[in-house]
Amino acid sequence: MTYVTKIYMPDKEKFKTYIDEIYESGWLTNNGPLVQKLEKRLEEYLGVKNLLCLSNGTDALQFAYRLLEEEGKEVITTPFSFVSTTSAIVTERLEPVFADIDKESYNIDPKNIERLITKDTCAIAPCHVFGNACEIDEIDTIAKRHKLKVIYDASHAFDVQYKNRHILNYGDMSVVSFHATKIFHTIEGAAIVIKDNALYEKAKIVRNYGIDAPDSVAMLGINAKMNDVQAAMGLCMLDEVDKISKERKESHQFYRKSLNKYVQIQKKNKNSTQSYSYFPVVLESEEEMKKVQEALFKEKITARQYFKPSLDTLPYVEPIEIMHNSRDLSNRILVIPMHSNVEKKVSKIIRTTLEKESLCKKEYSS
Ligand SMILES: *Cc1c(COP(=O)(O)O)cnc(C)c1O
Repeated sequence: MTYVTKIYMPDKEKFKTYIDEIYESGWLTNNGPLVQKLEKRLEEYLGVKNLLCLSNGTDALQFAYRLLEEEGKEVITTPFSFVSTTSAIVTERLEPVFADIDKESYNIDPKNIERLITKDTCAIAPCHVFGNACEIDEIDTIAKRHKLKVIYDASHAFDVQYKNRHILNYGDMSVVSFHATKIFHTIEGAAIVIKDNALYEKAKIVRNYGIDAPDSVAMLGINAKMNDVQAAMGLCMLDEVDKISKERKESHQFYRKSLNKYVQIQKKNKNSTQSYSYFPVVLESEEEMKKVQEALFKEKITARQYFKPSLDTLPYVEPIEIMHNSRDLSNRILVIPMHSNVEKKVSKIIRTTLEKESLCKKEYSS
């Protein structure tokens, strides 16, 4: 079976060397030397400051909300993302208020944000979905006008620059998951980048149970630490991530060329570089999507409906409006694999399925 994502295993000998280091130092966790090294290398590689490594992406999002010092309870967010984008808000006892997405970029549509702002709004929480940059400038302008914080879920955007700077530089806080299925991973793990220096200092304490000195607890904290084995994996991955990106770029470009006329392809933000992390294709109808998915499955290839369900339909939220664009997209979208040299086969199956479909439609209408 070929799955949508394939977990990348970096050089084993190098990983062993780091594990030897861990055995020698006896330092497994609690901000150990490898975690510190990874944080430093990531800041250099990405060109960001105030980066903290954390246990996983979901924790990192929760962590971001825990750091918020604003009064309000409402967070304006996208309905089209992985479930954690919403669950983190709910877990932190805040209330998600959904603003529907743009049909072409699949990101939160800034036009829908402003009218949802109330005196209880504290933050805007978009996601750069499939690594496609949000309308960052517009969102920033709205946030400034209403004194709101912006927390980006940049989990898909490790390989993306916006206006010539890494995308994690934008927003008051920006979170990226390092889960094993992501383009850069630390088995489980994540990072947060925090714009404000004082908030970054506070974050280091919150990450460590709120402990600020050996016998002192300064504030309510949590355990959101990355451990040194995770960091060892990250250090190995960092040496190979450019190579992985390059391979994905080739797959991405191949799909774009060969499927362009057959399916809808995500419209990229003009101010940012192209992410090569995922290749989502959007079919004309749910029925057509299912036909394609079944045809691929018959050939032992899985294509997944990322993201379904639309987050406004989660059992623990009470949305005030139906998110039509998000629900419609989630019914017609498929993410296809970009590894294992399966691209030619996938593309061919999609094209033949759709050609057959359109023949049927023509016969039916004539
Ligand atoms: C993967 C992902 C997360 C969650 O990250 P974990 O590290 O798996 O907890 C959050 N948001 C998005 C958009 C993701 O793709």
